This record gives sequence, C-alpha cells and structure tokens, in this order.
Amino acid sequence: MKIEHAQVGPLMVNCYFISEGDKLIIVDPGGSEEIIDDYIKSNKLKPVMIVNTHGHFDHIGAVQYLRKKYDIPFLIHKDDEFLLKMATSSAALFGLPPVETPEVDRNIEDGETVSESGIDIDIIHTPGHSPGGVCLYIKSEKVLITGDTLFARSVGRSDFPYADHGALIKNIKNKIMLLDDDVSVCPGHGEFSSISDEKLFNPFL
Ligand SMILES: [Zn+2]
Ligand SMILES: [Zn+2]
Repeated sequence: MKIEHAQVGPLMVNCYFISEGDKLIIVDPGGSEEIIDDYIKSNKLKPVMIVNTHGHFDHIGAVQYLRKKYDIPFLIHKDDEFLLKMATSSAALFGLPPVETPEVDRNIEDGETVSESGIDIDIIHTPGHSPGGVCLYIKSEKVLITGDTLFARSVGRSDFPYADHGALIKNIKNKIMLLDDDVSVCPGHGEFSSISDEKLFNPFL
C-alpha cells in the first residue's frame, strides 16, 4: 500500500492518495483537478472511491469533477451533508470562487471499516470542528488522516455556529489519543506529526 499526498485548492488542503496495486482511494480532493489528474495518470492508477474527512468547501472543490469523470462514489458522514450545500457561500466569505456541491453516494459512520480494493479504512467520528467530521485510520500503515480535527501542535477551528470546542477536545482525547504512539498524524492542512508528539507538545490537549 502507498499513501501519498498533494496540496490542493486555494487553502492548501492536504489531499491524500491511498493506493493498493493500481486501485486508488482519494481523500479530501479540495481543488486543483489538474494536480490530481496528473497524479492518477503518472502513477497509472484507477480511482475507485472518494472519502472525505468533512464537508468544508476547501476540502470538496474537486469532488464532483472526479466523481463524474471516473464514475466513482463519494462518501461522507451524514452530519456534514448540510455543509456541502453551503460551499459556495462559505467560499465567498474568503473571496473565493463558487464550489460545485457534490452528490453523496454513501454515508460513513463511527466504528465502520470501509473496505475497498484491499484498502481498509476505519472511520472514527470526531465531531467538534464540524458535526460530521471524521478521522480515517489506515491501521495496516499506522496512518491517521485527521482532516481539520487535529493538526501538528494545534486543533481545528471551532468558531463556527455549528462547531463545538469542548466536544472537539473531548473526542481527540477519548478517541484519537488512545491510538499507539507511533501512529502518524496526517492533517488536512500543514505538517505531519505523530500521536506521541501531539501527546507531548499539543498545547490544546
Ligand atoms: Zn474544515
Ligand atoms: Zn480545511
């Protein structure tokens, strides 16, 4: 299995590419369709699914494009579907162009393991930054994709009307920090970290 990433879209979202053989799962394709298409082409991959950590506009910009082009399903937690419809108005607050609202093919739930083409992804629901925010745990690689829930030395914003700082911290402590120390933390923006480094150095925890 290979897990790589590229920074995409106007807010530099970490889009993750999880591949096994020639099959590819794309996580948080926030924009920059050409970068994602180039990655797929140069690695001779066949996309099979899009899974999102949450529904904020900066994480979904290329979803509908990829979903249609490769005829693949889009999965997200149901509690973030309302955000997809707000994408264009949210982007406008940042002075950014409209974002196409993607159609959802399937919902993901806490405790579920999404298995596709030999790739297993454990879903950990960690609401707080957004109601339907999840972390994606690829146990075989000891990689945790945290979206905007947990960053290196920081946590996600909770200054939105639907966000909840207390719940965010509680969920990180109770559902994320119990993973092994050597699990890699791969956030939705910025640098990578590990569970042990965040236990030691994250001032919010
Ligand atoms: Zn976000
Ligand atoms: Zn984000």
